[in-house]
Amino acid sequence: YFIAADQFGDSEIRLVGEDAHHAVRVMRSKPGDQFIVSDGQSRTALVAVLEASPMLITAGIVELLSADSEPNWAITIAQSLPKGDKMELVIQKGTEIGAFAFVPFQSERMIVQYDAKKEAKRIDRWGKIAKEAAEQAHRSRIPAIEALHSWRELVKSIADYDLALFCYEREGHLAHGRGVRSAVSEWRASEAAVHSPRVLLIVGSEGGFTDREAAEAEAAGAVLVGLGRRILRTETAGIVGLTCLLYESGEMG
Ligand code: SAM
Repeated sequence: YFIAADQFGDSEIRLVGEDAHHAVRVMRSKPGDQFIVSDGQSRTALVAVLEASPMLITAGIVELLSADSEPNWAITIAQSLPKGDKMELVIQKGTEIGAFAFVPFQSERMIVQYDAKKEAKRIDRWGKIAKEAAEQAHRSRIPAIEALHSWRELVKSIADYDLALFCYEREGHLAHGRGVRSAVSEWRASEAAVHSPRVLLIVGSEGGFTDREAAEAEAAGAVLVGLGRRILRTETAGIVGLTCLLYESGEMG
């Protein structure tokens, strides 16, 4: 299963670069072999290899398939930049589960030091992880990974979504605290409800959020939600929130 966005013609597809290398060197693809290719958007097809080299694979389209593995809800995980390679886990698992996009952002209690040069390299690597995870999950699109947002930019972007949830562990501890389910049902009963919403799920890094950040997000239209009474690690919270949202959307069956 490959996602080859730029190389998808009417009757033929081409795999180049690492995809061709993987197909020939790892999968041992040869003429006549069949596999599935998606254009990364709406078209998916069963193809049969015509020519195979480690630089280029040409394959003919045998049959167009219905690409229906994308969730109805476009859920973006906004993750305050965590330490080490934790963001890789969030992207890999979030992509498998069905995240629409990822927005790394800066917040007050973020522990890692921001380094622009390092960040460009990491965003490249994160893109590769998203592609591999999307292929393994047989998705028809690769989630976008946006450039690092400042806190201001993130707060401003809340208005672009139909629903924004701000994961706040204190909310999970309050007896009257809202969870994902009640936030979604309140939203469903409101005028903002649409069939295929754009949803933003905001998660803090290891140090969590300050009260001021919670208040700013709320003032910008986000709903504060808890994810249960236990404190989740930063890399767990987005995955759990995403799963809860997709479950509420009816996606999980
Ligand atoms: N110190 C741990 C770590 O190193 O990962 C826990 C960090 S927790 C404060 C990180 C973020 O996960 C929080 O800012 C919040 O967005 C989210 N989170 C964790 N547990 C949560 C809960 N029970 N309810 C809502 N959000 C939660």
